[in-house]
Amino acid sequence: MTVARFMDLCLHDAEAGYYATRPDLGETGDFITAPLVSQIFGEILGAWVAQTWVGLGCPARFRLIELGPGLGVMLSDALRAARLAPGLMDACEVWFVETSEPLRRRQAQTLQGRAAPRWIDSLEAVPTDRPVIILANEFLDCLPILQATLTVGGWRERRVGISADGGLAFVGGEPVAERADWTGASSGAVAEWSPALADFGRTVGRLVGVASGAALFIDYGRAEPGLGDTLQALRGHRKESPLDRPGEADLTAHVDFPAFLRAAAGAGVSATAIRRQGAFLSELGALPRAAALARSRPDRAGLIFRQLDRLVSPEQMGDLFKVAAIHTPGLTPPGFEVAA
Ligand code: SAH
Repeated sequence: MTVARFMDLCLHDAEAGYYATRPDLGETGDFITAPLVSQIFGEILGAWVAQTWVGLGCPARFRLIELGPGLGVMLSDALRAARLAPGLMDACEVWFVETSEPLRRRQAQTLQGRAAPRWIDSLEAVPTDRPVIILANEFLDCLPILQATLTVGGWRERRVGISADGGLAFVGGEPVAERADWTGASSGAVAEWSPALADFGRTVGRLVGVASGAALFIDYGRAEPGLGDTLQALRGHRKESPLDRPGEADLTAHVDFPAFLRAAAGAGVSATAIRRQGAFLSELGALPRAAALARSRPDRAGLIFRQLDRLVSPEQMGDLFKVAAIHTPGLTPPGFEVAA
Protein backbone atom coordinates (compact mmCIF):
# COMPACT_ATOMS: atom_id res chain seq x y z
CA MET A 1 0.00 0.00 0.00
CA THR A 2 1.06 3.62 -0.37
CA VAL A 3 2.64 5.39 2.62
CA ALA A 4 -0.45 7.65 2.58
CA ARG A 5 -2.82 4.69 2.98
CA PHE A 6 -0.60 3.29 5.73
CA MET A 7 -0.66 6.63 7.62
CA ASP A 8 -4.39 6.89 7.25
CA LEU A 9 -4.96 3.41 8.68
CA CYS A 10 -2.40 3.86 11.49
CA LEU A 11 -4.04 7.12 12.60
CA HIS A 12 -7.73 6.76 11.87
CA ASP A 13 -8.75 3.11 11.43
CA ALA A 14 -11.87 2.71 13.58
CA GLU A 15 -10.58 -0.41 15.34
CA ALA A 16 -6.83 0.10 15.52
CA GLY A 17 -5.97 3.70 14.53
CA TYR A 18 -3.96 5.76 17.02
CA TYR A 19 -6.28 8.79 17.19
CA ALA A 20 -9.45 6.72 16.85
CA THR A 21 -8.61 4.38 19.72
CA ARG A 22 -5.73 5.41 22.02
CA PRO A 23 -4.49 8.99 21.60
CA ASP A 24 -2.25 9.89 24.55
CA LEU A 25 -0.89 13.44 24.49
CA GLY A 26 1.09 15.08 27.25
CA GLU A 27 4.15 14.79 29.45
CA THR A 28 3.25 11.24 30.53
CA GLY A 29 1.84 10.17 27.14
CA ASP A 30 3.35 9.61 23.70
CA PHE A 31 4.20 13.15 22.61
CA ILE A 32 3.97 16.73 23.80
CA THR A 33 2.87 19.80 21.87
CA ALA A 34 3.42 23.53 22.38
CA PRO A 35 0.11 24.27 24.17
CA LEU A 36 0.92 21.51 26.66
CA VAL A 37 4.40 22.96 27.28
CA SER A 38 3.20 26.42 28.34
CA GLN A 39 -0.04 28.36 28.65
CA ILE A 40 1.76 31.26 26.95
CA PHE A 41 1.40 29.53 23.59
CA GLY A 42 -2.40 29.50 23.65
CA GLU A 43 -2.57 32.96 25.18
CA ILE A 44 -0.47 34.48 22.40
CA LEU A 45 -2.72 32.80 19.84
CA GLY A 46 -5.73 34.23 21.68
CA ALA A 47 -4.25 37.71 21.31
CA TRP A 48 -3.67 36.88 17.62
CA VAL A 49 -7.35 35.96 17.26
CA ALA A 50 -8.44 39.20 18.95
CA GLN A 51 -6.22 41.38 16.75
CA THR A 52 -7.31 39.55 13.63
CA TRP A 53 -10.97 40.04 14.59
CA VAL A 54 -10.34 43.78 15.04
CA GLY A 55 -8.50 43.81 11.68
CA LEU A 56 -11.60 42.29 10.08
CA GLY A 57 -13.66 45.21 11.44
CA CYS A 58 -15.01 43.43 14.55
CA PRO A 59 -17.68 41.40 12.72
CA ALA A 60 -20.79 40.92 14.91
CA ARG A 61 -20.71 37.15 14.26
CA PHE A 62 -17.75 35.00 13.31
CA ARG A 63 -16.63 31.39 13.63
CA LEU A 64 -13.50 30.56 15.60
CA ILE A 65 -12.43 27.18 14.26
CA GLU A 66 -9.67 24.95 15.58
CA LEU A 67 -8.38 22.02 13.55
CA GLY A 68 -7.34 18.95 15.56
CA PRO A 69 -7.61 20.50 19.05
CA GLY A 70 -6.05 17.52 20.90
CA LEU A 71 -6.85 18.00 24.59
CA GLY A 72 -8.51 21.40 23.97
CA VAL A 73 -5.92 23.22 26.08
CA MET A 74 -4.82 25.67 23.40
CA LEU A 75 -8.28 27.08 22.82
CA SER A 76 -8.99 27.23 26.52
CA ASP A 77 -5.86 29.36 27.01
CA ALA A 78 -6.60 31.37 23.86
CA LEU A 79 -10.10 32.31 25.01
CA ARG A 80 -8.73 33.57 28.33
CA ALA A 81 -6.65 36.10 26.35
CA ALA A 82 -9.11 36.80 23.52
CA ARG A 83 -11.98 37.65 25.84
CA LEU A 84 -10.08 40.82 26.82
CA ALA A 85 -11.24 42.28 23.49
CA PRO A 86 -14.65 43.81 24.33
CA GLY A 87 -17.47 42.15 22.40
CA LEU A 88 -15.39 39.29 21.02
CA MET A 89 -16.94 36.53 23.10
CA ASP A 90 -20.47 37.58 22.10
CA ALA A 91 -19.49 37.54 18.44
CA CYS A 92 -17.66 34.23 18.55
CA GLU A 93 -18.95 30.74 17.86
CA VAL A 94 -16.40 27.94 18.49
CA TRP A 95 -16.15 25.03 16.04
CA PHE A 96 -13.78 22.07 16.37
CA VAL A 97 -12.72 19.92 13.43
CA GLU A 98 -11.90 16.61 15.11
CA THR A 99 -12.34 13.00 14.00
CA SER A 100 -11.20 11.30 17.23
CA GLU A 101 -14.04 10.38 19.60
CA PRO A 102 -11.79 9.98 22.67
CA LEU A 103 -10.27 13.42 22.01
CA ARG A 104 -13.70 15.03 21.48
CA ARG A 105 -14.56 13.90 25.02
CA ARG A 106 -11.33 15.35 26.42
CA GLN A 107 -11.96 18.63 24.59
CA ALA A 108 -15.49 18.87 26.02
CA GLN A 109 -14.09 18.40 29.54
CA THR A 110 -11.38 21.02 29.07
CA LEU A 111 -13.74 23.61 27.61
CA GLN A 112 -16.50 23.02 30.16
CA GLY A 113 -17.80 26.34 31.44
CA ARG A 114 -15.67 28.32 28.94
CA ALA A 115 -17.17 27.52 25.56
CA ALA A 116 -19.62 25.13 23.96
CA PRO A 117 -17.84 24.00 20.81
CA ARG A 118 -19.58 22.42 17.89
CA TRP A 119 -17.72 19.36 16.54
CA ILE A 120 -17.43 18.49 12.87
CA ASP A 121 -15.39 15.88 10.98
CA SER A 122 -14.18 18.07 8.18
CA LEU A 123 -13.59 21.73 7.35
CA GLU A 124 -15.80 21.22 4.27
CA ALA A 125 -18.82 21.27 6.64
CA VAL A 126 -18.29 24.92 7.62
CA PRO A 127 -20.81 27.31 5.99
CA THR A 128 -19.42 30.42 4.31
CA ASP A 129 -21.98 32.95 5.58
CA ARG A 130 -19.73 34.37 8.32
CA PRO A 131 -16.06 35.33 8.65
CA VAL A 132 -13.79 32.62 9.99
CA ILE A 133 -10.67 32.69 12.15
CA ILE A 134 -8.94 29.32 12.05
CA LEU A 135 -6.16 27.96 14.28
CA ALA A 136 -4.22 24.74 13.74
CA ASN A 137 -1.23 23.49 15.72
CA GLU A 138 0.31 20.16 14.68
CA PHE A 139 -2.65 19.31 12.47
CA LEU A 140 -1.12 19.44 8.98
CA ASP A 141 1.62 16.96 10.01
CA CYS A 142 -1.05 14.25 10.31
CA LEU A 143 -2.11 14.58 6.67
CA PRO A 144 -0.90 11.58 4.67
CA ILE A 145 2.17 11.87 2.44
CA LEU A 146 3.52 9.82 -0.45
CA GLN A 147 7.19 8.87 -0.79
CA ALA A 148 9.57 7.95 -3.59
CA THR A 149 13.17 6.62 -3.51
CA LEU A 150 15.87 7.28 -6.12
CA THR A 151 17.09 3.92 -7.45
CA VAL A 152 19.54 3.14 -10.26
CA GLY A 153 16.51 2.93 -12.51
CA GLY A 154 15.16 6.36 -11.48
CA TRP A 155 12.56 7.44 -8.91
CA ARG A 156 10.22 4.72 -7.68
CA GLU A 157 7.38 4.98 -5.26
CA ARG A 158 8.26 3.84 -1.72
CA ARG A 159 5.42 1.70 -0.39
CA VAL A 160 4.65 -0.41 2.65
CA GLY A 161 4.59 -4.15 2.01
CA ILE A 162 5.45 -7.51 3.55
CA SER A 163 9.09 -8.63 3.86
CA ALA A 164 10.38 -12.20 3.36
CA ASP A 165 10.12 -12.87 7.10
CA GLY A 166 6.48 -11.81 7.15
CA GLY A 167 6.93 -8.40 8.84
CA LEU A 168 6.20 -4.97 7.40
CA ALA A 169 8.86 -3.42 5.17
CA PHE A 170 9.31 -0.53 2.77
CA VAL A 171 9.17 -1.88 -0.77
CA GLY A 172 9.71 -0.40 -4.22
CA GLY A 173 6.70 0.48 -6.34
CA GLU A 174 5.97 1.93 -9.77
CA PRO A 175 8.26 4.50 -11.43
CA VAL A 176 7.48 8.11 -10.46
CA ALA A 177 8.27 11.14 -12.64
CA GLU A 178 11.00 13.37 -11.19
CA ARG A 179 9.75 16.71 -9.84
CA ALA A 180 11.68 19.97 -10.21
CA ASP A 181 12.46 20.03 -6.45
CA TRP A 182 14.11 16.60 -6.59
CA THR A 183 16.84 17.20 -9.17
CA GLY A 184 20.43 16.54 -8.14
CA ALA A 185 19.50 13.90 -5.54
CA SER A 186 21.87 11.00 -4.96
CA SER A 187 20.96 7.33 -5.10
CA GLY A 188 18.86 6.20 -2.13
CA ALA A 189 17.41 9.67 -1.53
CA VAL A 190 13.79 9.82 -0.38
CA ALA A 191 11.37 12.46 -1.66
CA GLU A 192 7.95 13.28 -0.26
CA TRP A 193 4.84 14.96 -1.56
CA SER A 194 1.28 15.14 -0.37
CA PRO A 195 -1.84 15.35 -2.51
CA ALA A 196 -3.85 15.40 0.77
CA LEU A 197 -1.98 18.52 1.97
CA ALA A 198 -2.56 20.29 -1.35
CA ASP A 199 -6.25 19.33 -1.32
CA PHE A 200 -6.56 20.62 2.20
CA GLY A 201 -4.82 23.88 1.19
CA ARG A 202 -7.43 24.36 -1.53
CA THR A 203 -10.24 23.71 0.97
CA VAL A 204 -8.87 26.32 3.41
CA GLY A 205 -8.29 28.76 0.54
CA ARG A 206 -11.86 28.41 -0.71
CA LEU A 207 -13.37 28.81 2.76
CA VAL A 208 -11.29 31.86 3.70
CA GLY A 209 -11.79 33.31 0.21
CA VAL A 210 -15.58 33.13 0.32
CA ALA A 211 -16.29 33.61 4.05
CA SER A 212 -13.40 36.10 4.60
CA GLY A 213 -11.04 35.83 7.55
CA ALA A 214 -7.69 34.24 8.33
CA ALA A 215 -6.20 30.85 9.13
CA LEU A 216 -3.01 30.32 11.16
CA PHE A 217 -0.94 27.14 10.82
CA ILE A 218 1.85 26.11 13.16
CA ASP A 219 3.72 22.91 12.52
CA TYR A 220 7.12 21.39 12.18
CA GLY A 221 8.23 21.35 8.63
CA ARG A 222 10.13 22.96 5.82
CA ALA A 223 10.08 26.55 4.68
CA GLU A 224 11.86 25.60 1.43
CA PRO A 225 11.50 22.59 -0.83
CA GLY A 226 13.77 19.74 0.26
CA LEU A 227 14.43 16.01 0.20
CA GLY A 228 14.51 13.45 3.00
CA ASP A 229 12.45 10.84 4.79
CA THR A 230 10.52 12.66 7.53
CA LEU A 231 7.91 10.00 8.33
CA GLN A 232 8.14 9.69 12.09
CA ALA A 233 6.50 7.57 14.78
CA LEU A 234 6.47 8.72 18.41
CA ARG A 235 5.50 6.49 21.30
CA GLY A 236 6.25 7.31 24.92
CA HIS A 237 8.25 10.35 23.67
CA ARG A 238 10.64 8.10 21.74
CA LYS A 239 11.08 7.89 18.00
CA GLU A 240 10.56 4.43 16.62
CA SER A 241 10.30 2.96 13.15
CA PRO A 242 6.92 3.82 11.62
CA LEU A 243 6.53 0.11 10.80
CA ASP A 244 7.18 -1.21 14.34
CA ARG A 245 3.78 -0.88 15.99
CA PRO A 246 1.14 0.36 13.55
CA GLY A 247 -1.64 2.21 15.37
CA GLU A 248 0.21 2.32 18.68
CA ALA A 249 2.27 5.42 17.92
CA ASP A 250 1.59 8.90 16.62
CA LEU A 251 2.65 9.02 12.98
CA THR A 252 3.51 12.31 11.30
CA ALA A 253 5.59 13.89 8.54
CA HIS A 254 7.20 17.30 8.12
CA VAL A 255 4.84 19.79 6.51
CA ASP A 256 5.80 21.12 3.08
CA PHE A 257 4.68 24.69 3.83
CA PRO A 258 5.46 26.14 0.37
CA ALA A 259 3.29 23.48 -1.31
CA PHE A 260 0.47 24.01 1.18
CA LEU A 261 0.46 27.81 0.80
CA ARG A 262 0.70 27.56 -3.00
CA ALA A 263 -2.40 25.36 -3.09
CA ALA A 264 -4.32 27.71 -0.78
CA ALA A 265 -3.31 30.89 -2.58
CA GLY A 266 -4.53 29.42 -5.86
CA ALA A 267 -8.05 29.88 -4.48
CA GLY A 268 -7.95 33.72 -4.46
CA VAL A 269 -6.63 34.38 -0.97
CA SER A 270 -3.29 35.74 0.22
CA ALA A 271 -0.58 33.74 1.97
CA THR A 272 1.96 35.22 4.37
CA ALA A 273 5.67 34.50 4.54
CA ILE A 274 6.72 31.41 6.49
CA ARG A 275 8.08 32.43 9.87
CA ARG A 276 9.74 30.53 12.72
CA GLN A 277 7.74 29.85 15.86
CA GLY A 278 10.36 31.39 18.17
CA ALA A 279 10.47 34.74 16.37
CA PHE A 280 6.70 34.79 15.90
CA LEU A 281 5.90 34.20 19.59
CA SER A 282 8.60 36.61 20.74
CA GLU A 283 7.32 39.44 18.57
CA LEU A 284 3.80 38.90 19.83
CA GLY A 285 4.89 39.32 23.45
CA ALA A 286 5.84 35.90 24.83
CA LEU A 287 8.62 37.27 27.06
CA PRO A 288 6.59 40.04 28.79
CA ARG A 289 3.82 37.49 29.32
CA ALA A 290 6.27 35.07 30.96
CA ALA A 291 7.61 37.91 33.12
CA ALA A 292 4.07 38.78 34.25
CA LEU A 293 3.33 35.14 35.10
CA ALA A 294 6.62 34.89 37.00
CA ARG A 295 5.79 38.02 39.02
CA SER A 296 2.49 36.55 40.12
CA ARG A 297 4.09 33.15 40.94
CA PRO A 298 7.71 33.87 42.01
CA ASP A 299 7.99 30.28 43.28
CA ARG A 300 7.48 29.05 39.70
CA ALA A 301 9.56 31.66 37.87
CA GLY A 302 12.31 29.20 36.91
CA LEU A 303 9.82 26.73 35.46
CA ILE A 304 7.90 29.45 33.58
CA PHE A 305 11.06 30.68 31.84
CA ARG A 306 12.24 27.11 31.08
CA GLN A 307 8.89 26.40 29.43
CA LEU A 308 9.12 29.62 27.42
CA ASP A 309 12.63 28.65 26.35
CA ARG A 310 11.34 25.31 25.08
CA LEU A 311 8.87 27.13 22.80
CA VAL A 312 11.17 29.83 21.44
CA SER A 313 14.81 28.77 21.58
CA PRO A 314 16.31 27.73 18.23
CA GLU A 315 17.73 24.51 19.70
CA GLN A 316 14.30 23.43 20.87
CA MET A 317 10.99 24.21 19.09
CA GLY A 318 11.80 27.78 18.04
CA ASP A 319 13.31 27.11 14.60
CA LEU A 320 11.95 23.70 13.63
CA PHE A 321 8.36 24.85 14.00
CA LYS A 322 7.08 27.22 11.32
CA VAL A 323 4.12 29.60 11.28
CA ALA A 324 2.18 30.84 8.26
CA ALA A 325 -1.27 32.25 7.58
CA ILE A 326 -3.78 32.39 4.78
CA HIS A 327 -6.01 35.43 4.76
CA THR A 328 -8.38 37.75 2.99
CA PRO A 329 -6.36 40.04 0.70
CA GLY A 330 -5.76 43.41 2.36
CA LEU A 331 -5.75 42.08 5.91
CA THR A 332 -2.35 41.93 7.65
CA PRO A 333 -2.36 39.12 10.21
CA PRO A 334 -0.49 40.00 13.44
CA GLY A 335 3.08 38.78 13.50
CA PHE A 336 3.52 39.05 9.72
CA GLU A 337 3.72 42.85 9.37
CA VAL A 338 7.40 42.91 8.48
CA ALA A 339 7.97 39.56 6.84
CA ALA A 340 4.87 39.52 4.60
N1 SAH B 1 -3.46 20.69 18.26
C1 SAH B 1 -3.26 19.81 19.40
C2 SAH B 1 -3.20 18.31 19.02
C3 SAH B 1 -2.26 17.90 17.94
S1 SAH B 1 -2.38 16.16 17.61
C4 SAH B 1 -2.04 20.24 20.17
O1 SAH B 1 -1.29 21.05 19.65
O2 SAH B 1 -1.84 19.75 21.28
C5 SAH B 1 -3.36 16.11 16.14
C6 SAH B 1 -4.82 16.41 16.32
O3 SAH B 1 -5.44 16.40 15.04
C7 SAH B 1 -5.60 15.41 17.16
O4 SAH B 1 -6.62 16.10 17.83
C8 SAH B 1 -6.17 14.48 16.08
O5 SAH B 1 -7.26 13.71 16.51
C9 SAH B 1 -6.53 15.47 15.01
N2 SAH B 1 -6.59 14.95 13.64
C10 SAH B 1 -5.62 14.27 12.98
N3 SAH B 1 -5.98 14.02 11.71
C11 SAH B 1 -7.22 14.56 11.55
C12 SAH B 1 -8.13 14.65 10.46
N4 SAH B 1 -7.84 14.12 9.27
N5 SAH B 1 -9.31 15.29 10.65
C13 SAH B 1 -9.60 15.85 11.85
N6 SAH B 1 -8.78 15.80 12.92
C14 SAH B 1 -7.62 15.16 12.78
